Amino acid sequence: MRPSYLIKPALDESYPEIDYGKGIYLFDQAGKRYLDASSGAVTANIGHGVPEIILAMHEQSKRVSFVYRSQFTSEPAEKLAEKLADLLPGDLNWSFFVNSGSEATETALKIAIQYWQEKGIKSKTKILSRWVSYHGITLGALSMSGHPGRRARFVPLLEEFPTISPPYCYRCPYQKSAPECGFLCAIELETAIKRIGADHIAAFIAEPVIGAAGGAISPPEDYYKTIKRICEENHILFIADEVMTGFGRTGPMLAIEHWNTIPDIVALGKGMGAGYAPIAATVVSDHVMEPILKGSKVIISGHTLSANPQSCAAALAVLEYLDNHQILKEVESKSVYLKNKLDRLKTQFPFIGEVRGKGLLFGLEFVQFPAAKIPFDPSVKLTELVVRTGRDHGILLYPAGAGLDGLSGDAVIIAPPLTVTKREIDELI
Ligand code: PMP
Repeated sequence: MRPSYLIKPALDESYPEIDYGKGIYLFDQAGKRYLDASSGAVTANIGHGVPEIILAMHEQSKRVSFVYRSQFTSEPAEKLAEKLADLLPGDLNWSFFVNSGSEATETALKIAIQYWQEKGIKSKTKILSRWVSYHGITLGALSMSGHPGRRARFVPLLEEFPTISPPYCYRCPYQKSAPECGFLCAIELETAIKRIGADHIAAFIAEPVIGAAGGAISPPEDYYKTIKRICEENHILFIADEVMTGFGRTGPMLAIEHWNTIPDIVALGKGMGAGYAPIAATVVSDHVMEPILKGSKVIISGHTLSANPQSCAAALAVLEYLDNHQILKEVESKSVYLKNKLDRLKTQFPFIGEVRGKGLLFGLEFVQFPAAKIPFDPSVKLTELVVRTGRDHGILLYPAGAGLDGLSGDAVIIAPPLTVTKREIDELI
């Protein structure tokens, strides 16, 4: 047996070795071309092999690629923090750089608890989340991830991180048609707070559009407005996990901006380094930082490689690229073009139950096998089958577990680089 750095459980035993990437395409050692229709786990947002990013990283590595964070800072790190403060809404002004989305949400949870501790309210230690959610793989992040399948693989988790239901319009009798849909969906938060006690809850965390656990589930219109109101009334911080949705994936910098809501803390990752460097951030608003700065001033977010100049230079170059090429402005028109094609696909294939999403983050949720009348072995998960078949045919998709109501199957995410062209969308579908 050949030793490898990974155990290969998901698709099959033969992972092709990727040789290089160019734009939306990846090429393996055998010369086979793949269209990366999900930006490699919704990360390679501007495509592969972009010369501007490579050059910026090269230039930075010639200067310095690492400084000890406890004693020094660097120009790229300072510039990046400033840039994020400019680009993010409200008073989200304090960036703590980490290396992965999991570390960003984990840091968010620690800061939320610390906020209340510094204010002298020691009982607020629980984090509420939703039972269809994915916030990462470190212990705290996984403990507040709601997906039962993923949680089951890692017991014991941290004690009692309660969950509420996610918004889920597919199969809901109202189907977003009732004007009070958003309110009805969000009101469970209030019930849960009453049950648990607001004085025990530090924060509520949500992915504005549910990604890996649900397949691009976008809420009804007034959902986040209601969520924010309930959080404020009960003195609970609202954390937006924008690891997948940040940096223009759905159009604006943050997906939560669609619903005119400003979180108290935001977790960023994936598209931040666009796959060129491992970089993520927890960004905290002034009002949350205030008691921390008056108090201990200590934030537990530092990892050895946090804010390293090389990664910060990559993230800065990505932001510059998005700006120079006005990428975010075109997301909406590309979204409409792709959505029309996906809707047409749904009429052709009865096993696609719903096409949904926001911006360039789409989910196709599959109808359960018997309902879809597909003569396959029901022990085979449709998501895995679709992802594997896609890869064999040179189309890369991202699997997302759903299983929301005990009936549905799973979903795949389609999220091409934001730089995708209409010609490339035509090639995909
Ligand atoms: N939050 C969300 C919303 C995610 O989609 C992910 C990754 N799929 C994470 C957190 C964890 O990020 P990472 O894998 O970079 O640790």
